[in-house]
Amino acid sequence: MDIKLNNGYKIPKIGYGVYKMPDDTETTTNIVFAIKNGYRLIDTASRYGNETCVGEAIKKCGLNREELFITSKLWNTDQGYQSTLDAFELTLKKLDLEYLDLYLIHWPVPEGHEHDYQELNKETWRAFEKLYRDGKIKAIGLSNFKIEYINQLLETAEIIPMVNQIEFHPGAYNKKLLQYCSEHNIVAEAWGPLGQGRVFENPILTELAQKYGKTVSQICLRWCIQHNVIPLPKSSHKERILQNLDVFNFDIDQHDMEIIDNNDLFKDTIGSNYYNRK
Ligand code: NAD
Repeated sequence: MDIKLNNGYKIPKIGYGVYKMPDDTETTTNIVFAIKNGYRLIDTASRYGNETCVGEAIKKCGLNREELFITSKLWNTDQGYQSTLDAFELTLKKLDLEYLDLYLIHWPVPEGHEHDYQELNKETWRAFEKLYRDGKIKAIGLSNFKIEYINQLLETAEIIPMVNQIEFHPGAYNKKLLQYCSEHNIVAEAWGPLGQGRVFENPILTELAQKYGKTVSQICLRWCIQHNVIPLPKSSHKERILQNLDVFNFDIDQHDMEIIDNNDLFKDTIGSNYYNRK
């Protein structure tokens, strides 16, 4: 149920995303439910404003800290060396943790930094490397970095990123980026693995779901897993939280994998929020 990152640290094959979940007791209850039923990876971000209730859930779930894999992300306005160190401390404080399992640069080109984002990313990464070496983060990585942005970062990086979290679902299959990540030993994670809700009415996916006796959600998550991409589905409904974890008892055959890989079949109905942007 784990994948090894390029530093040997283990990351679960699926995670629970908490984007747009409010910082309240219901969210804490949902996260505790997810953990008690088998999720180990929780994906939050300072931008989501719910790190405090993720921290609450960690305390309430009854598991040891080492059994969990907690990810957070550095928001755009905190990019830079010292500001990253400060933002990280705040994240840790809100989560009430001693260390993070994974910390990501949320976006490569913060608004207003189109002219100097490369330098900014490099400075931010220097702070990530310090936090990693200090033992405060077990793994460091990126999010939404296209190939050119990763190449720019690698000009000065001393530590190769361990993860790149990208938009990934039928309609956002980026083979080149996936191949690049694999060649550089960077594990890819899928945000929006359910197309942020857009996959469910799709007739091709509905037909595949019927063929395999699974739900559309399970088809999409299994497709991610068979690509060695870690899906981070979000749901606040108990039966869906359970259903989304039940994706390790079947295989999508190669022919059907290739159907889902074909972006053209899905671009009008599901499409990409991100890759079509510059
Ligand atoms: P998602 O693709 O997980 O879709 C969530 C939607 O699908 C919700 O409306 C939910 O109710 C519905 N859903 C979930 N399971 C279902 C099921 N079994 N049946 C029917 N409906 C179901 O979208 P997301 O939340 O945007 O992405 C997942 C996670 O990825 C986020 O929570 C967050 O942690 C992360 N994320 C990261 C970035 C980034 O920039 N790094 C951006 C967006 C999301």
